[in-house]
Amino acid sequence: MRWKGIISQYGEYLPTLASEAIVTLHEGNTPLLRARQLEAHLSQALRIYLKCEGSNPTGSFKDRGMTVAVSKAVEEGSKAVICASTGNTAASAAAYAARAGLKCYVLVPKGNVALGKLAQATMHGAKVLQIEGLFDEALELVLQITEAHKITLVNSLNPFRIEGQKTAAFEVCDELEDAPDYHALPVGNAGNITAYWKGYKEYRERGVIERLPKMLGFQAEGAAPIVRGQIVRNPETVATAIKIGNPASWQAAVAARDESGGLIDAVSDQEILRAYSMLAELEGVFCEPASAASVAGLLKLAKNGYFASKATVVCTLTGHGLKDPERAMDCAPEPIQVPAEMRSILAEMGI
Ligand SMILES: *Cc1c(COP(=O)(O)O)cnc(C)c1O
Repeated sequence: MRWKGIISQYGEYLPTLASEAIVTLHEGNTPLLRARQLEAHLSQALRIYLKCEGSNPTGSFKDRGMTVAVSKAVEEGSKAVICASTGNTAASAAAYAARAGLKCYVLVPKGNVALGKLAQATMHGAKVLQIEGLFDEALELVLQITEAHKITLVNSLNPFRIEGQKTAAFEVCDELEDAPDYHALPVGNAGNITAYWKGYKEYRERGVIERLPKMLGFQAEGAAPIVRGQIVRNPETVATAIKIGNPASWQAAVAARDESGGLIDAVSDQEILRAYSMLAELEGVFCEPASAASVAGLLKLAKNGYFASKATVVCTLTGHGLKDPERAMDCAPEPIQVPAEMRSILAEMGI
């Protein structure tokens, strides 16, 4: 059976949708990779898996939520969608709206969106409005717009987004044939940790799995409102996708943490960038900086002896590294200039 997207695969767990309303780019079915080199790097014996969400059609997990949210918008006769975004929601909304023939408006914080994401949103024909302000202000404005006008909100405050995103937890369980012991992921607006926890709980209620994982959320140190227990007015981090000072799903994220017996912790930009490079160099997986917060958190906790020995840990890598080529070029060594001549080339190769 060929994969036809998460609504086709997991429809029985999702709100009902008229089949003619379904808008899909065949999202989901992303790789769950065992990370043996990373495992070898740790002093604790763990089984580490990477859920590579950068393999979704627009390069991030946002597609899982967007297929459901945009399909619902179509079913309800909506003509336009809108979101505030640090980039990936905009890219995804723009693509699914284009496919559905809907107008798409996105509000992004100027100067804080990775180049690839802006390119996607504009190529898909969205009206991209860069505001001189932060994501949190963009979201506040978008909420006011959707209260006053007939435009569908496709931020994760739209419950259909969470419904779609929970299917990533289903895929993990389907592949591992149970839940992992721990599930680590970056936390920005906190929709995704909410969605995974919902997915795991539903699978257990239906008897598909027997146990639940502990949820481990990681915020960037300079943008860690949930860790600090207060709104961060001026969030700062290289991980622009999680540069959020007042997460919309704050309470739900705290509930996921507490019900699961997990934690939400902070990792520094330095730890994030180290994990970002390690994933690329050791595992062949190029994710964006924010995504690496999950692995940065895993490394931090493993160092402190947090995990039970032989525990299974799944880390979600939320978005693709190609989204942010500028950050990659800043981190990686400069390409070597060499004349088109054999001796110099072999010399550089050390042969
Ligand atoms: C949206 C996003 C996040 C944060 O997810 P939330 O649901 O807002 O917590 C993390 N990483 C990437 C790449 C994202 O696009």
